[in-house]
Amino acid sequence: MGGSNLSALTRRSFLTGAAAAGLILAGSTTANAAPGIGARINRVTVTREEHRVIVIDSGFGGGVTALRLAQAGVPVTVLERGRRWPTGPNATTFPRVANPDKRILWHKSFPEVFGQRLSVDPYVGLVEAVPGENMTALCAAAVGGGSIVYQGMSLQPSRDVFNTHFPNELDWDLMNRVHYPRVARMLGLATAPDELVASPTYAAARIFADRVRAAGMPLDKIPMPIDWNFALAELRGEMASAYTNGAGALGVNNGGKHTVDVTYIAEAEATGRATVEVMHDVTDIERAADGRWTVYVDRTDETGTVLENKILTTDALVLAAGSLGTTRLLMRAAAKGQITDLPDELGRGWGTNADRIYMWTDTTENFGAVQGGPVVYGSKNWADPHTAHTIIQASLPSFQIDTRTTTLVGYGVSNGRGNFVYDGGRDDAVLRWPYEGDAAIQNNHIDPAVRRIAGDAAVVIDTNQVVPSTWHPLGGANMGSVCDLDGRVLGQRGLYVLDGALMPGNAAACNPSMTIAAVAERALDNLVAQDVGTVI
Ligand SMILES: Cc1cc2nc3c(=O)[nH]c(=O)nc-3n(C[C@H](O)[C@H](O)[C@H](O)COP(=O)(O)OP(=O)(O)OC[C@H]3O[C@@H](n4cnc5c(N)ncnc54)[C@H](O)[C@@H]3O)c2cc1C
Repeated sequence: MGGSNLSALTRRSFLTGAAAAGLILAGSTTANAAPGIGARINRVTVTREEHRVIVIDSGFGGGVTALRLAQAGVPVTVLERGRRWPTGPNATTFPRVANPDKRILWHKSFPEVFGQRLSVDPYVGLVEAVPGENMTALCAAAVGGGSIVYQGMSLQPSRDVFNTHFPNELDWDLMNRVHYPRVARMLGLATAPDELVASPTYAAARIFADRVRAAGMPLDKIPMPIDWNFALAELRGEMASAYTNGAGALGVNNGGKHTVDVTYIAEAEATGRATVEVMHDVTDIERAADGRWTVYVDRTDETGTVLENKILTTDALVLAAGSLGTTRLLMRAAAKGQITDLPDELGRGWGTNADRIYMWTDTTENFGAVQGGPVVYGSKNWADPHTAHTIIQASLPSFQIDTRTTTLVGYGVSNGRGNFVYDGGRDDAVLRWPYEGDAAIQNNHIDPAVRRIAGDAAVVIDTNQVVPSTWHPLGGANMGSVCDLDGRVLGQRGLYVLDGALMPGNAAACNPSMTIAAVAERALDNLVAQDVGTVI
């Protein structure tokens, strides 16, 4: 991508010493985003700073890291490429899926998403679509990371499924006792109250529950990081609809959603020891001659135009930029010799969590033109750890037309794995995914479960067959091969990975956020005890 090349150019300028003059020429990093912007040349200042710990960035792994290190007395600087997205009753912070605008897309995103050429202005928007071979990964860009745009389905894997797919040394019993409950408390997990589910716009949830029961499949309410009193207040007309009309697919304007920015990050900032630098896009990382870490940053405005280049030096560097963000930073550093002796397995073992989104249309049912959300019920089919999968009903964003359609999401365990390959022309690591990578779990287990629920009269469209994509990218710097279980990159003192890149390519038949946060909580217990004061 042009933006990456320009970033590489900027970095080379740094390394050749041109930056020392205090001013360099740097191209905007938004070359792909819109005509005109890419050609603009800015004069930007270069700033150098020293830090004790830098965390790239503020998602689940980054939020846990920032809070636990700050509580341990360590000053932490968090670099986040996205902006803050404040909420509150009747706010209009977030875009609507039914009425999309520039706020949806991160400015370095590929100019075509799912084959559609986009003509929105460049913006520090919510989602980066990262195209690879046979797979597009959708990644968040915001203070709070994926928690801002995620639906919030928060599942803890069962012991058997977890132990079949994760290293047993993680100790499920310990995590079950300590770390998963800690995350659940931090995010204020709760299921939708019956009073809400009985209300008119939750018909799709009730129909799904009836169908699952009739199919003899397990049915559970799904824990969500939501204060459901907000949704009940909407029913009473005390605030505009955000939950009860399913409008929160890309962020809930009213608030009441316990996202990472208002939980982990807010608590970290409240210690006075954590600072979050927004619109700080990390372009490169490097091991310095003295063994510390150098981080190259473009500070941008909301259009993605570079305002300042920063060269930051730190004793300890925690990568928490998500599966794609972290893996690509490490792969670029390895390919260009900026970090030598990284483990050979870097960039391998990446998985999609066998992610599916289905459109379920049934003309005999009235799901409702307006569907309350985000999620009430799911079916956890976890008896066999080798075929475990979950099917969940989620509200269809409201287009005010009754299409007799709702959404089902499915995911599960899979042995399909992709890998990243460095492309020098693009200065980027590109994902290669085997076309039929998840076919075994999708075709033999997830699809049949969806069809059992939907029934013969229904039309079910697997949207991932149309455009292969995942909202749950996992792995790339996997535990056990690239990192130890606490996220220490093997052979690289002071370098850590604590995010989705650390996961073994799936999340044990669950949505990933709970497990990413719980693994990070477990790791931070150990890092605070063992590394703070020595390495960190
Ligand atoms: C639309 C959507 C819905 C989802 N729904 C669910 C759900 O219901 N339940 C669930 O469990 N999971 C869900 N997920 C997945 C979940 O959000 C992710 O698994 C989770 O956020 C990953 O956590 P992480 O810590 O690895 O990274 P993230 O939370 O993605 O955080 C990574 C952060 O890194 C920043 N970053 C990346 N590169 C750079 C860089 N170079 N410089 C500076 N900052 C950078 C990004 O801006 C981002 O804030 C959903 C995801 C999406 C996109």
